[in-house]
Amino acid sequence: MKAVEFLADLRRRFPNEPEYLQAVEEVVNSIEEEYNKYPAFENLNLIERLCIPDQIYTFRVSWVDDKGRVRTNMGYRVQHNNAIGPYKGGIRFHSSVNISILKFLAFEQTFKNSLTTLAMGGAKGGSDFSPRGKSDMEVMRFCQAFVTELYRHIGADTDVPAGDIGVGGREVAYMFGWYKKMTREFTGAFTGKGLNFGGSLVRPEATGYGNVYFLLNMLATRGIDIAGKRVAVSGSGNVALYTADKLISLGAKVVSLSDSSGSVIIPDGLTREQFDKVFELKTAYRGRISQFAEDENLTYLPGQRPWKNVKCDIAMPSATQNEIDGSDAEALLDGGCFAVSEGANMPSTPEAVAKFINARILYAPGKAANAGGVSVSGLEMAQNAQKLSWTAEEVDTKLRSIMNDIHTQCVKYGSEDDGYVNYVKGANVAGFLKVAKAMHAQGIV
Ligand code: NDP
Repeated sequence: MKAVEFLADLRRRFPNEPEYLQAVEEVVNSIEEEYNKYPAFENLNLIERLCIPDQIYTFRVSWVDDKGRVRTNMGYRVQHNNAIGPYKGGIRFHSSVNISILKFLAFEQTFKNSLTTLAMGGAKGGSDFSPRGKSDMEVMRFCQAFVTELYRHIGADTDVPAGDIGVGGREVAYMFGWYKKMTREFTGAFTGKGLNFGGSLVRPEATGYGNVYFLLNMLATRGIDIAGKRVAVSGSGNVALYTADKLISLGAKVVSLSDSSGSVIIPDGLTREQFDKVFELKTAYRGRISQFAEDENLTYLPGQRPWKNVKCDIAMPSATQNEIDGSDAEALLDGGCFAVSEGANMPSTPEAVAKFINARILYAPGKAANAGGVSVSGLEMAQNAQKLSWTAEEVDTKLRSIMNDIHTQCVKYGSEDDGYVNYVKGANVAGFLKVAKAMHAQGIV
């Protein structure tokens, strides 16, 4: 396989899918050498089947808003690969959702799920519906209309959706309720469910906590202690908040948070009391970060991301894709940032990634660092299958051990001659090998 030729062909076939092409390009370039060690892969043209999703469902979702108007959104489910387990991946509700974004997320999910060592294939779905500003009843009616089509394509052993941007416990509960109604079955067809109907303890915390556990592993390779370190976090949703929570409990200083309207800068670090306030504002009232800044008399920067506006030792982007560009990366490096651990999926542009790696800082791509969420989703599936619930301690211990394992795999496949660990290469090669070997064994399906 020649990566250059393969990627040129993919660009010709999918010219309007920049995020998908960006994600594929990164992986294909970093696995080229390993792939070519296995002539059998090339004989089966495995790379094409690895990069192009198994199937994509697209459908219209019509629902009625509180004023009685009929509204229409698009609905999608991208089932990328199920070589190592049932399709698995979140649902995103955001006005920006399109096929390119969901294809990139489903592709990434396939490698991430492989890294977790659990039996899960890769998928992603969603809609250009935005829950922001909608009433609970509107969100419920939308979720029901969405699942009225989605339910045909999912199931506990087929495809198991979960949350993502715009989809939290409320949305998963509405979707699960309607799925149960349509199928007349109570099965673990969704993860991220409420605790009293099959959800797992530590699932809400898992992505943020898992990212911090991964970061601790990276810091340990250089003998660095997290206590007292200044950490810039972006976002203020599920991933960002639980990242901040764990960082504060370890004595680190969270110096920023953000949402899609702007950033708050916290020069002395978020206190536990401030964390409790922002957590309540975001989760109970679905409030804005500008409100938190005003309440706490902190600097609010409308329309800006944190990276150029605060000095930090560590960056943990936890909002969305491509939120750190080349100039943001330069600003971070100039400010002394020595570690980046991604809570969001593909938050750094290729230019930013190249700058981090060239500067030899600790840099963990999302598919390794944020795999804690889907890992605990996998543990939720295991508990559902056994009709058991594990304690928070049991789940947290398993989460730590999975994040440690992912780190070990990255070091194994990503260590370079000078001792630098290229976590991008490590994660891509480790994730790829397991899926590719399973596909090879199963023949052309
Ligand atoms: P949430 O919806 O809970 O929070 C998303 C946060 O990011 C909000 O603060 C939101 O601001 C902000 N945001 C969303 N879109 C943009 C944008 N275009 N520009 C700037 N800010 C934006 O989502 P999650 O916390 O669940 O997800 C965050 C990231 O983590 C995503 O990349 C997701 O794919 C990834 N991830 C999530 C996992 C999970 O378990 N939830 C697992 C693994 C990865 P606003 O409120 O203004 O929209």
